[in-house]
Amino acid sequence: KTAHIRDSLSSLYEELSNSSSLAIKFIRSRVERMSERWIKAGLRMKQNGSDTGSAELKVLLYPGALAGKAGQHFEAMVERGGPLGELVQWADLSACLTILGHHLTFSSSQRQLHRLIGAAPGHGGCPIQRPLMFDLIYTDYHGLAHLHGAMGLAFNHYKCRFRILDSFGTEPTFNLASYAQSRGYKTLWGSWGLRPLQYMNMFPHTPDNSFLGFVSEEALKTEKSKDRLEPESYRKERIAVVYGKQDYMWQGKSEYVRIISEELETHGTVYQASHHSSNLPSFVKNHGLLTQEQFLKLLHRAKVFIGLGFPYEGPAPIEAIALGCIFLQPRFDPPHTSDNNNFYKGKPTTRKISSQHPYAEQFIGKPYVLTVDMTNTTAVREAVKSILNTEVKPFTPREFTCVGMLERVHSYITYQNFCSTSVPTWPPESALKVHLGPLGQSCVSVCQHSSLWCEPALFHHLNTPAAFTR
Ligand code: UDP
Repeated sequence: KTAHIRDSLSSLYEELSNSSSLAIKFIRSRVERMSERWIKAGLRMKQNGSDTGSAELKVLLYPGALAGKAGQHFEAMVERGGPLGELVQWADLSACLTILGHHLTFSSSQRQLHRLIGAAPGHGGCPIQRPLMFDLIYTDYHGLAHLHGAMGLAFNHYKCRFRILDSFGTEPTFNLASYAQSRGYKTLWGSWGLRPLQYMNMFPHTPDNSFLGFVSEEALKTEKSKDRLEPESYRKERIAVVYGKQDYMWQGKSEYVRIISEELETHGTVYQASHHSSNLPSFVKNHGLLTQEQFLKLLHRAKVFIGLGFPYEGPAPIEAIALGCIFLQPRFDPPHTSDNNNFYKGKPTTRKISSQHPYAEQFIGKPYVLTVDMTNTTAVREAVKSILNTEVKPFTPREFTCVGMLERVHSYITYQNFCSTSVPTWPPESALKVHLGPLGQSCVSVCQHSSLWCEPALFHHLNTPAAFTR
């Protein structure tokens, strides 16, 4: 059966209904809010002839973070300022796969997982492994452990069908337990021995992993103006919104926030259980945790979105920039790493985090993103002044639009096959541009300098004596 682009998300709503989970409700309401954009983007893809009729796949989505013990904790935090970035990604991935015409099963229950993929009870207590009925399984690190438990020995046989949503990335050095151990790479999460491209990140952190991403807001376009923005709808008020849903994120940041509030009315969306002992300065107008829709409305009015240094690498700054805000964020010098920072400790990456949101800093930059030393009062004052003097239009990088994500996921589904050991044929050799970098510079940085992307799938064309002689 071939997959055809759908013009409705109703099959996904059915999959997501009958759940009392707050996390699933968040996912569902996000999908509903964005449904029109998804459907339009699908239509555009169809018109462009990208509906190439690949096979309809049976796909299981299993966000392990929402299941079992971890799930209870996650669930409790949804309405208390806990992390929502993963839910944003699960919502967008499920909408994307539905529009692309695949057959989805969405589960966040360990018991259901056993029913779906577990071994059947056999004679004399020996479980019988049934063939796996899913072509692809999207899960996360928690889910990998659940799958391992449910599948037993079949886990190794089928692991080439897994895709792991992993926001911060897993570097190859951490991927093989024996190698990581012998070289002293400490990690709580890696060591599953998958192909590094099976890890799908929130941002394009490293070409060793796949970049899954999510969908940001797109600037509102009125019928009249079609592709041009109505300037009226983006008139900004002199207000700043601070990025930080939980009180502790504001700790020690009051001087920085105070300087900003000399010039702009400062708003927060912080969950507060009780009113005593708060890190929130009294001059901040706190709305409490907002629904995503209300939060986006607030960003729409705001001139600037203020990073406090935590959370790292989330979706909110991309949404803020899409709604016409400038993002002001702290620089980290020295950069945060898994060696010097509790959040990254144990994460399977050696990345150096140079600011709260390195993607925003490096891929978007000025005038949309200003990165400052937040302890330097003069620098912060100057940044605020320059923000007030700068008009920016709403901006969404193409990779964070519905069309961008549909194209990307479609390509992954069509070309990524980790169950085969043959050399990759995608991207095609025609996409290869060779640059000779200076000694000691990485492929990633040399390519980035030329606005290109270091692509390991093309290495096999280059790793020949003839190519080097040339
Ligand atoms: N968000 C929300 N209500 C708020 C603040 C943020 O619904 O009061 C949403 C926001 O639109 C974003 C999501 O929370 O899509 C995740 O945001 P963040 O960047 O904070 O990442 P996290 O740390 O939660 O993963």
